[in-house]
Amino acid sequence: MRLSRYFLPVLKENPADAQIVSHRYMLRAGMIRQQAAGIYSWLPLGFRVLRRIEEIVHQEQVRAGHIPLLMPTLQPADLWRESGRYDDYGQEMLRIKDRHERDMLYGPTNEEMITDIFRSHVSSYKDLPLTLYHIQWKFRDELRPRFGVMRGREFLMKDGYNFDIDKDAALHAYNRHMVSYLRTYERMGLTAIPMRAASGPIGGDNTHEFLVLANTGESEVFYDDRVTSLKLGARDIDYDDRSQVAEVCKEFTTLYARTDETHDQAVFDQIPEAHRKVGRGIEVGQIFYFSTKYSEPMGAVVVNDKGERVPVHMGSHGIGVSRLLGAIIEASHDDKGIIWPEGVTPFPVGIVNLKQGDSAADAACEGLYKALKAKGLEALYDDRDERAGAKFATMDLIGLPWRITVGPRGLANGVVELTSRRTGESEEMSPEAAVDRVAQIYAGR
Ligand code: ATP
Ligand code: MG
Repeated sequence: MRLSRYFLPVLKENPADAQIVSHRYMLRAGMIRQQAAGIYSWLPLGFRVLRRIEEIVHQEQVRAGHIPLLMPTLQPADLWRESGRYDDYGQEMLRIKDRHERDMLYGPTNEEMITDIFRSHVSSYKDLPLTLYHIQWKFRDELRPRFGVMRGREFLMKDGYNFDIDKDAALHAYNRHMVSYLRTYERMGLTAIPMRAASGPIGGDNTHEFLVLANTGESEVFYDDRVTSLKLGARDIDYDDRSQVAEVCKEFTTLYARTDETHDQAVFDQIPEAHRKVGRGIEVGQIFYFSTKYSEPMGAVVVNDKGERVPVHMGSHGIGVSRLLGAIIEASHDDKGIIWPEGVTPFPVGIVNLKQGDSAADAACEGLYKALKAKGLEALYDDRDERAGAKFATMDLIGLPWRITVGPRGLANGVVELTSRRTGESEEMSPEAAVDRVAQIYAGR
């Protein structure tokens, strides 16, 4: 993408109403625009990151054996009357009437609808296990929408639902989700710690929230700091192997890590003092096992291998896709701007032409741009007729992890400069070597 033809409405001033750094940088980098309280347009740069995050979520869900579909944002109230949640959900639910005076709502979540789909099409244990998920916009009329996309009213969520024949199978689905989530967040460059949580309006006893540590997080968290160094890494997971998946979950949930809702001071006090930490975290996901809470009232029943009709065991599992942009920025920035992890960056690399109009510099930039494209990498090429300082400031603000700087002086020696946004370190090399290096960095993405 050539910056001269792109739409990147960068703000010079700090927006007055943005209280936390991720909100500030998302506005300044021209990623989002607020249209009403907690409701945003996703401008091109923000949209690219959102799509990238969605893609990672999809890939890891499919890898775990889960099946994508798409349910609508608007739902009939009658489904929610069946589960009893139409009255329980309260003011966060946006209720709408259509022209025939039928009660509708903008879905805050989809347990009822997925249960309806299931009961209409599945009737035998032979069709289980089954996990369906979608990535769809939700609406919750939050009392205090704030912090930009972190607590929006309209927000994008991945929500998945497992259907299993019994509790053991459903707990395996729960574990599978935990492991797939760990991998998902790691690919985004995040450490998200599974913490024992309380269940709220979804119901059920078995639940973990995934928290990214950040001072600006809304949840108070208590943990043994050794959990922060656990990594899933590249290990091979067989998602059908119940004991392997359970082992991984055990590894990640044995050390103390809880939110204030489930915190137990007596247990916490037994952690060696040097490892005992109280902090704040951003909830980027949550998994639940809730047994037959929805299947029973809604008649999601299958015939088991003994010919008996039994309600299925279910769980639901959510990832805050749009909130993740904020969480990643909170975890990865400096005073100049965002520092995108390679996994989610809107563009893998930026090209800065120090002297637009200089024929050698222009030709070298074009060459780099094409060579990167040939390797499947779309660079953001700053081809504007601007001062070098302004170009650097824009690149630093929007946070591409790598920058190639091209100027007549370097080219006279046959070199360009490759700079890491994270460390600030630069290295001179030939344009070909720079392309190879960047391609290598993204090879495993
Ligand atoms: P919170 O406690 O932050 O209100 P929740 O527990 O009600 O969230 P869930 O029903 O668990 O939310 O939804 C799954 C995920 O969706 C959450 O972990 C969070 O990352 C995200 N999410 C929930 N509410 C919002 C919101 N208002 N704006 C952006 N993301 C949200
Ligand atoms: Mg939650």
